[in-house]
Amino acid sequence: MKTLFKSIRFKITILYVAILALTLTLFSTILYHNVSAGLYNNMDTLLKSKAGGVAQAINTYWQTANLEVTEAGLKPEALIKRRNTNFAKVAQRWVKEESNDPRLLDILVQIFDTDGNIIASSKNAQGLTEISRKNFITVLQGKSRFDTVSSQVQSNRMTMRIYTTPVIENEKVAYIVQVASPLDSIQIALNNLRIVLFILLPITLFATGIMGVLLAKVTLHPVDSMIKTIHQITAENMALKLKVPDTKDEIQHLAETFNEMLDRLGRAFKSQKQLFEDISHELKTPLTILKGEFEVALTKVRSADEYEAMLKSALEEINRIAKLAESLLLLARLDSKEMTPQKMDVDLNLMIKGIINNIKGLAELKGVRISFEIPTGELSLHGDENQLKTLFLNILDNAIKYTPHNGLIEVSTKRATSVANVSIKDTGIGIPGEDIGRIFDRFYRLDTSRDSIGFGLGLSIAKSIAEAHGGTIRASSEAAKGTTFIVSLPLY
Ligand code: ADP
Repeated sequence: MKTLFKSIRFKITILYVAILALTLTLFSTILYHNVSAGLYNNMDTLLKSKAGGVAQAINTYWQTANLEVTEAGLKPEALIKRRNTNFAKVAQRWVKEESNDPRLLDILVQIFDTDGNIIASSKNAQGLTEISRKNFITVLQGKSRFDTVSSQVQSNRMTMRIYTTPVIENEKVAYIVQVASPLDSIQIALNNLRIVLFILLPITLFATGIMGVLLAKVTLHPVDSMIKTIHQITAENMALKLKVPDTKDEIQHLAETFNEMLDRLGRAFKSQKQLFEDISHELKTPLTILKGEFEVALTKVRSADEYEAMLKSALEEINRIAKLAESLLLLARLDSKEMTPQKMDVDLNLMIKGIINNIKGLAELKGVRISFEIPTGELSLHGDENQLKTLFLNILDNAIKYTPHNGLIEVSTKRATSVANVSIKDTGIGIPGEDIGRIFDRFYRLDTSRDSIGFGLGLSIAKSIAEAHGGTIRASSEAAKGTTFIVSLPLY
């Protein structure tokens, strides 16, 4: 359960539902307010026009009545509507005869005189709140007004919208028309809208929530199966691959990238395993020899010379093991980048001359000549002198080892644009084409029929050192003719 709340599926759904809830609430509020404002505006416009219609209709009645008055020869004051009992009668007559007109259905009409007394009132207006003193004063000042009041109309409590407007005659308020309409239809409509929105909103959110969970589940389903497979992958089981979904999305890309990583790790594990096997194998030979020699020595009491010879032979094997351990340690350190080159200014020509001087004796013993003509101009590098010495010593040592009597090793240095190229060319036994690509691999030696006493680590060490200095090593060879190594190192 705890993991469900933390799952991407849950987080996406919650975020999605929350954003939707916010949007829908905003939308519903705006919709409700617009509909409500629209309905009330319509009602106000209707009331206004009805009030105008009532005033006009009463006026028509009044004018007809006036004809009778004029015909009767009465004075013109009698024609003024204000505080005129005749007018009150006309108004009452109009209300009695016309207020039941279907066009006025649902509209309550009241006519007030300028003292605030009701002079006429439609039947359905019984009980409508009488105009308040305060409101009456504003209307008498010539201002129309809208009010919303709760009234007991015909024994029903209703909320009414009331429009009160003065009718002006000779710049004076002659009488006041009040029309009202119950707001219940609008309130019912708005209530219905509210209910619909209140019910729809949670239903929509719930439905989208469920859809969201399902959608996220479907989308993330490959991730679940990927997790299951990943659980099964172990160092021994690196061949296992993730199923790549054909979704052309980030999940497919993730699965592909993960499989590529598995391939890389698989290769690394394989070479690590190979390395362990090679190391065990290399250790086994000298240890077996040592064991054999000691066992033979212990079979009987021997002379001091015999013991000395045996100990010398044992020491040779021990030296071999020590050299192997040393080479492996150096490689491991170079690999782990733990051994950062102790960089200093190195004069390449001077350094190579020094190495050649050191190994000259060994070459002479084998009857091999080494030539090195120091070119004019300095070739300065920024590098670890000890490591660089090991690099060139390993290559030169090989050249001496694999070049027969009377052979020649030519060493030369050359400046290219931004690198120094050192070439070591021998006239030795050469390396067959099929092997040249592998001579830099760890423990790789050419077939055992060759007189090889190395471990096959010298060139891998040389390569690692060159790379640690940002350089490269290349080898080219022709069987029985010789081999050329070219070391390129960036110049200072
Ligand atoms: P090793 O210690 O066996 O010499 P290296 O890594 O230095 O190991 O060399 C790998 C193999 O490459 C050697 O076993 C050898 O067969 C071959 N090799 C290296 N240098 C030369 C060379 N100059 N001429 C011929 N073969 C060479």
